[in-house]
Amino acid sequence: MDHLNLLLNIGQLDWVFKGSSSIEKLLDNIVVMVARHMRADVCSIYIYDDTKGELVLRANTGFDPSVIGKIKLRRGEGIAGTVFEKNAPVCVADGFTHPNFRYFKGTGEERYKSFLSVPIISGAVPVGVIMLQRQQNNRFEDSDIKALQIVSSQLATVLDNIKIIISLQGAAPGESMRGKKEQLDGMFLKGKAASRGYAYAKTTLATGAERFHDMAGQTFGKKYSLADLQKALKKTEKELAALQKAVDNKLSDAASMIFTSHLLILKDKSFLAAMTLSVQKGKNAPEAVIAAGQKYITLFSASSDPYIREKVHDIEDLVTRVIRNLARKEAKLPPVRNRIVVATDLYPSDLLKLSSEEVKGIVLMSGGVTSHVSILARSLQIPMVIVNDPVMNNISDGDRILIDAEIGNVFINPGKDIVQEFKDRIDEQTTASAPPAMKAITETKDGVRIKLMANVNLLKDLEVLRQMSCDGIGLYRSEFPFIIRKNFPTEEEQYFIYRKLAEGAPSKDVTFRTLDIGGDKIPAYWEPVNKGNSFLGLRSIRFSLKYKDIFTQQIRAILRAGANCDLKIMFPMIFSLEEFLQARGIVMECVDDLKQGESVFNGQPKIGMMVEVPAVIEIIEEFARVVDFFSIGTNDLVQYMLAVDRTNEEVAEYYIPHHPAVLRAIKRVTEAAKSYSKEVSVCGDMVNNAHYLQFLIGCGIRTLSMNPIYLAENQKIIGGIDVANAEAMTLKLLATGDISRIENELFVKLQF
Ligand code: PEP
Ligand code: MG
Repeated sequence: MDHLNLLLNIGQLDWVFKGSSSIEKLLDNIVVMVARHMRADVCSIYIYDDTKGELVLRANTGFDPSVIGKIKLRRGEGIAGTVFEKNAPVCVADGFTHPNFRYFKGTGEERYKSFLSVPIISGAVPVGVIMLQRQQNNRFEDSDIKALQIVSSQLATVLDNIKIIISLQGAAPGESMRGKKEQLDGMFLKGKAASRGYAYAKTTLATGAERFHDMAGQTFGKKYSLADLQKALKKTEKELAALQKAVDNKLSDAASMIFTSHLLILKDKSFLAAMTLSVQKGKNAPEAVIAAGQKYITLFSASSDPYIREKVHDIEDLVTRVIRNLARKEAKLPPVRNRIVVATDLYPSDLLKLSSEEVKGIVLMSGGVTSHVSILARSLQIPMVIVNDPVMNNISDGDRILIDAEIGNVFINPGKDIVQEFKDRIDEQTTASAPPAMKAITETKDGVRIKLMANVNLLKDLEVLRQMSCDGIGLYRSEFPFIIRKNFPTEEEQYFIYRKLAEGAPSKDVTFRTLDIGGDKIPAYWEPVNKGNSFLGLRSIRFSLKYKDIFTQQIRAILRAGANCDLKIMFPMIFSLEEFLQARGIVMECVDDLKQGESVFNGQPKIGMMVEVPAVIEIIEEFARVVDFFSIGTNDLVQYMLAVDRTNEEVAEYYIPHHPAVLRAIKRVTEAAKSYSKEVSVCGDMVNNAHYLQFLIGCGIRTLSMNPIYLAENQKIIGGIDVANAEAMTLKLLATGDISRIENELFVKLQF
């Protein structure tokens, strides 16, 4: 328990950064704190330098400080090199007898022969090593290994950033670019509603890019001194730490050090020196900040590593923050708080940042409504509209936008009449009116029980669920904590999140979907899945079966967290029987393994699969024999059956969930499940559409899983459906191969 506390404390940046005036000092703080907590006499951190191919001792407590930076090891050399090479811990009572041991004269380490060392892993690759030493009579235990692994996983993000900064110290400055501006009063644009709600506010152009580029060409009337700059840097640091805290509090599962790189760059000696020096030479402070930031941007943009390229946004964001704090009036840089953000593209972690800064709404210029950024925006309750219209490029910071994300309309600098028309709806939303009352159970008009389940993406969704009535969690998208963070969470971290989910669930019925990485859910730190068409690549269960360690850790965490649940585990994107059986085999291995230990866990989870790949439809009867349940993921099933990218707004008109092939596929799955008495649910966004509910119920589906915001509305719609009528309509729909006739039946005749 004590160790878990350390884990959570490290997760809070104010702990790590307190009193750190430079990266060196930050690392010093870390080794001192870790040594104290782990009762070690020595703690060292080695960071791998890819260009030279060596591990360098970057921080230490316990040795003579002169060795820092001097001790260098190749892969496989010494205990640290071995840990790094094998990507596995070493724990020995007498390190001097270890076959690869290397003694460094002058360290005084002969007094500390007991060693414990674990790799620091980012993504699936080691980036460094953390090493503890004690006197020989005080050996490390198994529990210490686990604790140090937890610490190391938390450090991975910080080290990743430090590594980049270290490698860039001393690099050359680059060039700047320019942006553009135009007015578009009274214009109306039609888009797609991606996350419900209304918002009316001034706009901020997203990612900081435009703002940064606008600024890069600007001259600042007033002269700012070094003292002004230092004050602004301090203020920015405080601001970032507060933001991080806000994200931590709001989203405990996903908020892993989102602002880490900002803070690290802010403390980077060469960044500070570059700015200070040019101010001392007479440059105005804001221009010095821009020039220093530009140096990083040029370097990061040129990198072949997507993780490093992603850092460009962080620098732009950081520089604009510093300038805002330095020259607020002249720079005219609008904040994000209470604004509507217009962005060409957003990462899930950008959404979290925006949510932590209380953004009012988002207009996104790319992506689809079933994309995962849209799904996440719904969980964060940020109204969002997708508008793929070049006119959006002419929006300027400060233009007023009204978004109606119920139907997908965007009004630019709207007139008084439009604003008045929406005023009540916007006010109602901001006064957080009580959610619509729900009945305890959901039934059709003729009394057929329907299980209404919730799709949970973030723990935050549980808050909404508390005010609703629903029968359990039908889909927990476990990948969100993975893609939003900067590194893979460990078993312990996952256990912590999953346990909160299980404890906060509306009933014992909890369905965990295993990692669904890939497609539009690519962690920034994970390069291998970024090749070619990622929707057809190493996605979902393919990823889990390839990286078995990551999969095993996740399954163990799920089994442990689900100890008191009616636990269901399902695999995404299954395409063959063999694949399902292999994945199920790994779950059973984990059960056997856990039986050997002392953890409390669920040894009898129900194991099912998602139906998302069209190939499984033809062999669905064979699957029905072996699975415990099916869950139909219509978002992917539609995209794969119809060959339409679900994230591409340009082909949105081809994304037709009511295509006859899709309807027949759903029916076939339902029939197969019925023949083998297996449960079948639908958990894709098709459930969010009132028109499709009658068809799904008419097909025989009795379990529907949806975003919590649709629960009340869907319960009401289901209450008006008569099963016999629904079945008759379903038969009609299944009998036609003609999309327009189906549309006629579904959208014209049906009145809800
Ligand atoms: C689906 O594909 O329908 C589904 C529920 O999974 P996701 O949207 O997370 O891909
Ligand atoms: Mg899917």
